Amino acid sequence: MMLAMASSERSATKASGRLGRALLRLLMKRAAVVAVERLADRFRLITLEGAALAGVTWTPGQKIQIAMGSAFVARTYTPITWDADAGRTCVLGCVHGNGPGSAWVGWVEPGDECHIFGPRTSLDARRLAGSLAVFGDETSIGLAAALAVQDKTRSITCHFEVADVESGRKVVQQLGFDNAVLFAKRADDAHLQEMEAALPALVAAGASFVLTGKAGTIQRLRRSLRQQAVAAPRIVTKAYWAPGKTGLD
Ligand SMILES: Cc1cc2nc3c(=O)[nH]c(=O)nc-3n(C[C@H](O)[C@H](O)[C@H](O)COP(=O)(O)OP(=O)(O)OC[C@H]3O[C@@H](n4cnc5c(N)ncnc54)[C@H](O)[C@@H]3O)c2cc1C
Repeated sequence: MMLAMASSERSATKASGRLGRALLRLLMKRAAVVAVERLADRFRLITLEGAALAGVTWTPGQKIQIAMGSAFVARTYTPITWDADAGRTCVLGCVHGNGPGSAWVGWVEPGDECHIFGPRTSLDARRLAGSLAVFGDETSIGLAAALAVQDKTRSITCHFEVADVESGRKVVQQLGFDNAVLFAKRADDAHLQEMEAALPALVAAGASFVLTGKAGTIQRLRRSLRQQAVAAPRIVTKAYWAPGKTGLD
């Protein structure tokens, strides 16, 4: 009985493996990894290229999903640039643990192949007026870089909670955000008070707010902004991950 179950489970896994691979070819864009730059310990700037990426319309803030070996397992990343003529895009990946996304970011090399879905709508900052205040974490740095590409004349200030300030500093500097304010993450979230303390000056200056990254931090900062009477149209949010949840989209 045990053997019979194991064999039927194996066939189901094989079938879903075959289906997953067929869906990859059918629904997703094939790309080659052409460069992997190690910006700091846990950060990789990954460039993808392929004919399927050419002629694509992309708006900064959109997402792509990268298949992790099967169309059924994908992780979401934010293109920083998209060259539709060359069929090339790049993402900043952060290794934070042992999930499939972190593992891929950690081991991927030039010459590897991958499949992507998108770009698709995620966060649209085009309707926001004035200067932008971007709050987030390691996963939000790519978005800030994409928004800087969108409008080079727009002022963008960045505030990121990071596990390692030294690595975070190296990354933001290489992406041109020398003035980014970095907050060392603390297990008791005490650093969130410091992040909140940065809000009133930005509110007074008339900034619009882009909140991404960890769901709990977004909720807290949004509440604080609403208490400061910041109107909803001046805030856009998108949770990029939440403790205990996998593969948020
Ligand atoms: C729209 C969108 C855009 C995104 N853009 C980027 C991007 O440009 N660059 C980037 O690096 N990430 C980005 N992310 C976040 C990334 O998709 C997640 O961090 C994803 O969970 C990573 O997959 P994983 O397989 O490593 O972990 P999962 O298998 O998804 O999760 C395993 C565990 O790790 C936890 N976890 C997930 N992310 C983090 C984290 N950052 N820090 C600590 N714990 C975490 C989960 O809660 C879970 O408990 C984006 C997410 C979304 C929804």
